[in-house]
Amino acid sequence: MPDSASPFDLLIHGGTLIDGTRAPRRDADIGIVDGRIADIGDLAGRPARRTLDATGRIVAPGFIDSHTHDDQALLSDPAMPFKVSQGVTTVVSGNCGISIAPLRAGTPLPAPLDLLDASARAVAKPIPREPPVTNATLSANEAIRNLVEWQRHRELSART
Ligand SMILES: [Zn+2]
Repeated sequence: MPDSASPFDLLIHGGTLIDGTRAPRRDADIGIVDGRIADIGDLAGRPARRTLDATGRIVAPGFIDSHTHDDQALLSDPAMPFKVSQGVTTVVSGNCGISIAPLRAGTPLPAPLDLLDASARAVAKPIPREPPVTNATLSANEAIRNLVEWQRHRELSART
């Protein structure tokens, strides 16, 4: 915890904190240093390099969306504003058998893999070094099976 003279990198002030511990909501400021919460409470008057006025807003930990099909979204819109705007900071994809990984460009996608919008893979953007949403992307069983079958089909076709 920094001393009271050391500035926070970010001070979120004026918000109502719901901290995820089942404690009642309360008015509290949050001081952040090096990407971590350094202090919580009445931090009025404490120096900060940057401040964010959260008056009238809820301040809470990010939500984990544990079952998504966001593989394609991660590639085409890495900032994922549709998740961040809902408070989602972590997504997990591929856990129900559908994933882009380990498919390759040009791999035909039978149902249900076509739900992933293969055409959008062609316009993939670089994933930011520090994306706003943490991604846990699994290589799903259906995608692996599809890739193996597609490779085997190509090998068999090459023999004839
Ligand atoms: Zn699913």
